[in-house]
Formats: sequence, structure tokens, C-alpha cells
Amino acid sequence: MNESMKLKDKIALITGGGKGMGRAIGLAFATEGADVVVNDLDYSNAQNVAAEIQSLGHQALANGADVSDSQAVDSMVKQAVDKFGQIDILVNCAGILLVKEIGETDDDEWGRVIAVNLNGVFYCTRSVLTHSMLPRQSGKIISFASVTPLRGEGSVCAYAASKGGVIGFTKALSREVGRSGINVNAIAPGYIDTDQTKDAFVDRTREHVMRQITFRRIGVPTDIVGTAVFLASEDSAYMTGQTIIVDGGVV
Ligand code: NAP
Repeated sequence: MNESMKLKDKIALITGGGKGMGRAIGLAFATEGADVVVNDLDYSNAQNVAAEIQSLGHQALANGADVSDSQAVDSMVKQAVDKFGQIDILVNCAGILLVKEIGETDDDEWGRVIAVNLNGVFYCTRSVLTHSMLPRQSGKIISFASVTPLRGEGSVCAYAASKGGVIGFTKALSREVGRSGINVNAIAPGYIDTDQTKDAFVDRTREHVMRQITFRRIGVPTDIVGTAVFLASEDSAYMTGQTIIVDGGVV
């Protein structure tokens, strides 16, 4: 193993790691020397990414827990700690998008967005803190927010509320666990081409989105990995409570 790797011998748990930005981050972390627990609601996608990580010469564990189910999350974290002994890095990446005007959004749709995007961050973070980071007085927590609550946009109120919650959660938790040697930060991506956005970025909407981006291109998952590796590594040792915007110049 290369001594210059930024995450050498670290254990990372990535939720929503079966595709999109979570998958890109899992592969980047392994390239930097980490072993990875790949969680995804789609277990077969989690297994595929775990196999890709193993082919890079690192250990990986696939898990299919729904992050909005606190018991399933606790089982996943215990399984990961049983296998690897610790979790050094948590990436809360699992998320869902709902594009609907407020009057058309029913209670269940609102509830599901909050359950996955906000409750899921709470359940995973609480469990990893309790079972590994607080006892070890060390850890890096990185959660996925969005530029949506920062710039305001129509037809995404539930999503913006959930991601705004992640930003507030990140700031508050950073104060609570900072003295335990734990860094808590968030990433707010702009517009990134993934399965989550493929229905939203079509034809004229895609042109409209592109015009709002300084670099005039929609991002790809690998545009986010440098920031994720930075926040997971000792390069960001003196940073906590921050939400880093990675949007090609939108906000
Ligand atoms: P993606 O390609 O759809 O990946 C998200 C992954 O999360 C999917 O594999 C999905 O599985 C999984 N997932 C969904 N609900 C889950 C649950 N309850 N438990 C466990 N896994 C679950 O999306 P992405 O664009 O990479 O998004 C990654 C994160 O960035 C999300 O939090 C998203 O909200 C946020 N974000 C995205 C953008 C963007 O433009 N793409 C911008 C800002 C923020 P299934 O496919 O089986 O549902």
C-alpha cells in the first residue's frame, strides 16, 4: 500500500453508495487506501460497488438497509463494527428527490423525503457515533446537503426542507462532538448528472439549468470526490460545522 494515500487503513461507511455520487466516493476512498461498507437500498447495486472496491485490493461489505429505518441502521452499523472493528468515516449520501408543487405534495410524499434525507442522516450519524466514533474519540462525518435550500427554487419544498435540515444538523452537531475529536461537515452539490436528476434535467429544462451554471456544464459524480476525500482526510483536520458548496458556480 502506498504511504501517501490519504485514507490509508481507514474504514468508511457510505450510505447510498450503490450508484451516483456515493459510488464515485466509495471508489475514490478505496483508491486512497480505505476499506468501505457500501450501503444502498438497492442491495445488488451495493454488492456491485463492493466487488469493484475489492477488485481495487480493498475490503468491502455490502449492506441493503433502508436509512429511514433506525433498527435496520443500527444492525448495519453493528455488522460493520463487528467486521472492521471501527468506523472512521461516515458519508451520509443516500437521498431522494421530489419535484412537485406544494399543493400537489401529499403527506406521504413529504414524509418520505424527510424520512430518507433527514431522519436517515440522524439515524446513521447517531448509530456510528454511539458504536464507534464517541468511544474512540475520533471520526469524520460528511453529509449530503444541496444548494436547493441556499438559493431557493420552485417545486422542491420538501427536498429543500430536508437538505436545509442537514445543514442545521451539521452545524449543531459539530459543536456537540468537536471536543471528542470528531469533524462534522456537509457537501452541497449543485446540479449533478445522476439517476436522481435524469428525469428533471431534460430538453429545455437542461438548457435552463446549464445557463445558471458559471462553467456552463452540469456536473458529474467525480466532480464531488475531491471535496469528499478532503473532508474525510487529515487535510481538513481544522474544519468543522461547514457546508462546502460544489456547484460549478451557481450560488
Ligand atoms: P443517486 O444516483 O440516485 O444515488 C442515491 C442512492 O441512494 C441510490 O442508489 C438510492 O438507491 C439510494 N437510496 C435512496 N433511498 C435510500 C434509502 N432509504 N436507504 C438507502 N439508500 C437509499 O443520487 P445522487 O445524485 O448521487 O445523490 C447523492 C446525494 O446527493 C443525495 O443525498 C442527493 O439528494 C444529493 N444531491 C444530489 C444532487 C444532484 O444534482 N444529483 C444535487 C444536490 C444534492 P435507489 O436507487 O435504490 O433508490
